[in-house]
Amino acid sequence: MKTTTTRKILAGLNYSGLDRLYQQLDAELGVLLTFHHVHPRLPQAFSPNAHLAVDPEFLSEIIRVLRQRGFELVCMDEVRARIQSPERKNRFAAITFDDGYRDNLEHAIPLLREQRVPYAMYIASGMIEGTANVWWEGIEALVRENTSLVFDMSGQEVELDCSNLAAKQSSFVKLMDYLTEELPENLQRSFVNTLCSQYEVDLEAHRERQLMTWDEIRQLAADPLCTIGAHTVDHPALARLTEDDASSEMVNGADVLAAKLGRKPDHFAYPYGYHQAAGPREFDLARKAGFKTAVTTRPGMVFAEHANYLTGLPRISANGLYQEKRYFAPLTSGLPTRLRSRMRRLDVA
Ligand SMILES: [Zn+2]
Repeated sequence: MKTTTTRKILAGLNYSGLDRLYQQLDAELGVLLTFHHVHPRLPQAFSPNAHLAVDPEFLSEIIRVLRQRGFELVCMDEVRARIQSPERKNRFAAITFDDGYRDNLEHAIPLLREQRVPYAMYIASGMIEGTANVWWEGIEALVRENTSLVFDMSGQEVELDCSNLAAKQSSFVKLMDYLTEELPENLQRSFVNTLCSQYEVDLEAHRERQLMTWDEIRQLAADPLCTIGAHTVDHPALARLTEDDASSEMVNGADVLAAKLGRKPDHFAYPYGYHQAAGPREFDLARKAGFKTAVTTRPGMVFAEHANYLTGLPRISANGLYQEKRYFAPLTSGLPTRLRSRMRRLDVA
């Protein structure tokens, strides 16, 4: 329902030309885009993580739209330089990928190389080494493959109906809310592991299929177009940890990348990146850890005022539910996110 409304608003802005008019008036410096999976679309009715995957054609379309609209595609070092000395140049756009999925290597990187587009890849070392996994995809598999799930939720036996599409969708949301809001971060993994082994979902095999190996990441790191950034060790919602634990996750994740790749990462992405996962305390910790920039998933454009908030930068998601030019193009004008944030430029509190 919400998706349908948003699509209508975006398409309306596109047809009216209002977004292009607005773009000529506003003073944003550029935009950072978030990608996760890139692969051909899978025809699946129950697909609760579909927003995290775009097909390669849509990535091409995005690059085309950005160039048509006068954006220069730049790396994260250049993003930082342009925020720090914001002379009026062309607007910039930066392409960023979170987590290091193998499909990026197969479907996105060749395309970016062909088009000479710089990109950043944020790696959580534990997801590569198996101390963390893609648990939200494990939950998706559990709900897809079963008609009901019975398990212990905070000492109470609970049964979740997964017998039809609507039931699956609501059960997925319930489980995700429980895992991200109620259960402490340090218990999340054991809960998911227990549930997955109870219902024979092999999370470790899934992780191995989905994530790149260190060898593959090293190949990428050698590409002059690629910036490898840090993304913690075990991909926690940092704001739900103690300050010491949050700090260790950030620092240790960067140290592992330095050891594996021979170069300390200068840039960082907060896992999940939304308000409840990363806030002002984390922005401070990222600065203290020495990162030159750190990116959230708070939607918005980048302005000169972000010079004081280089570790709290907004990004716009290349969202799999909006894979059409008429939905994406207006986002590059900054108008939709400004409307959403009641015309505020900064969202850093
Ligand atoms: Zn991530």
